[in-house]
Parts: sequence; C-alpha cells; structure tokens
Amino acid sequence: MANLHRRKVLQSPLCSNCNKARETVHHALWECDHVLGCWGHRFKKLRSPEQSMGSFADLVFSARQQDKNMELFMVVAWMIWTRRNKRHFNEQQLPPEKILEAETALLTKFHENSVGRSERKLTQTQRWVPPAAGMYKVNYDGACFVDEEKAGIGVVVRNDRGQVMGSLAEKIEMPPTVEVLEAMAARRAMIFMEELGLRHAVFEGDSEIVVKALVGLYPD
Ligand SMILES: [Zn+2]
Repeated sequence: MANLHRRKVLQSPLCSNCNKARETVHHALWECDHVLGCWGHRFKKLRSPEQSMGSFADLVFSARQQDKNMELFMVVAWMIWTRRNKRHFNEQQLPPEKILEAETALLTKFHENSVGRSERKLTQTQRWVPPAAGMYKVNYDGACFVDEEKAGIGVVVRNDRGQVMGSLAEKIEMPPTVEVLEAMAARRAMIFMEELGLRHAVFEGDSEIVVKALVGLYPD
C-alpha cells in the first residue's frame, strides 16, 4: 500500500513538466509547452486562435470534426498520458525525441493487417500485447492530484489489430484510496465498453489487487 501511495499520489496540482499551470487533463495532454513536440505538426489546425478549447473534451470534439485521423489523435494523447504517469511514478519513460518515433511505429502497426508476427522492434518499446483474435483489450489507469482533491481516469480500447476503438480521459472527485481509484477506473472502463457497444474484452489495469478482484466479474 505504502508503495502504491508513493507511486501514485502526487503532491502538487501544478504541472510537473512546466510548473506554470494547474495540471488539468487538457493542460497535460495539449497545452503544456513540453508536449507540443509530441504532437509534431499534425493537428496544427486545432491550435489556431479561432479555436477555443476549454477542455480536452472540446478538443476531441473539434478534432473529430476536422481531422479524419482520430486514431492517431488518440494514440498521441494516450502516449503523452502514459508518459506523464510514468514520470509521476518515477518509472522509466520514453524521451521526448522518441515519442514521435514510437507514434509512427504504432501507426504503422495500425495499418498492417496482421499483428503479432515478427513485429520488428515494436514489442521492445511497446509492451502492449494484442488480445486474442476477435477480442478487445481495454487498458485503464488512474492518477491522484492530492492538493486539488481530484483524480483522473484514462481508458483506451483497442481491437486485436491494435486499432484504437475508443479512448477517454476524465477528471473525477478524489476517491478515498488509490485502490478505490483503480477500481473506479476499471468500472469506468467497463461502462465505456458498454457505451461503445463492444463485448468480449480483456481488461488490463495498473493495480494487481483490483484486477484480481475483478477477474470473473465481467462475462464474455
Ligand atoms: Zn505544463
């Protein structure tokens, strides 16, 4: 538990990248100077002054309207989020210059018809393993912002070819413990699957305790 708390609970509401703004999901994934490079020149239109993006949800809405490549959009957002979490939990993370490379590798993977056979270096940099044929894999995670008394939940759903079927990042009221947060993230992931109308899923979360408790609760 102590270990989980040490790993999961953050001390400051300020962005740990730039230390300039409160770390909202929107800031962490989009506004922060430190993630600009991760987006590269893609989705540049979304940064034009006439676009007013109050929240990440607004941004996703506009991206959907403007750009056909939502798959890439969600992958980039997810990678930034994952990287941020790894930084907060002092785990090894991809250096910024590797992010674009990894995104490209992921995209290449998306557009290949078969996944899982001699996938070059991808498996070394990306530990994500596709689910069995016909299944979906749902990855979820939660993070706490202690000073703000808020928590964040992230979910991404991929099919057996690694294509992103849906993704969400939400801020919620701070639950009493990190384990509860993980359970809430897992529950949100399940609800999200229902919202997407998808079944036959494998869930992959960060907290072993929660994942074990949930095993068997979600019917195929
Ligand atoms: Zn920042």
